[in-house]
Amino acid sequence: MKVTKVCCQGCGADLDVDEGIRFVTCNFCGARLEIVHDDTVTHSRLLEKIGRQTDAMAGDLKVIRLQNELEQLDREWQADSQRFMVTGKNGQASAPNPVAGILMAIVGIAFGIFWIGQTSRMGAPAFFPLFGFVFIAAAAFGAFRNLAKSSGMNQARSGYERRRRHLLEQIERAGGR
Ligand SMILES: [Zn+2]
Repeated sequence: MKVTKVCCQGCGADLDVDEGIRFVTCNFCGARLEIVHDDTVTHSRLLEKIGRQTDAMAGDLKVIRLQNELEQLDREWQADSQRFMVTGKNGQASAPNPVAGILMAIVGIAFGIFWIGQTSRMGAPAFFPLFGFVFIAAAAFGAFRNLAKSSGMNQARSGYERRRRHLLEQIERAGGR
């Protein structure tokens, strides 16, 4: 049987192919090839199926890349969200709670007013009632800081969630999940 040289369309290797054979698998890259005999030349053609497998593989790679991006995004948010955290009484960090912050401020301000009233009535030295004002100012400042952090965190979180949703949509479209 006559042997012809055919260039593999998958990897470019020279393959020795018996003339009568129509389909061949490349020894080098494993591509399934159709041997096409034209009038003048014999060449190989990658089978459709391989093309689709390659597409699927490219799709898988895209999914993996997107999933890595998603993990990266989550990690970045984990790190980024720390700067909005408030430290609680026991030293543990937690997300700012604006309602709790306002309630604490109200209690603090009420105590300050009570303190000023009591110390004034008892005729205590002037710096005693003044402590009450310091207390009120501290409570108001705490609530303000808490609100600012909380709104900053909400803004950053909505940006993070938007990017995350976008990535998830891309993953879904690429055939993952
Ligand atoms: Zn090949």
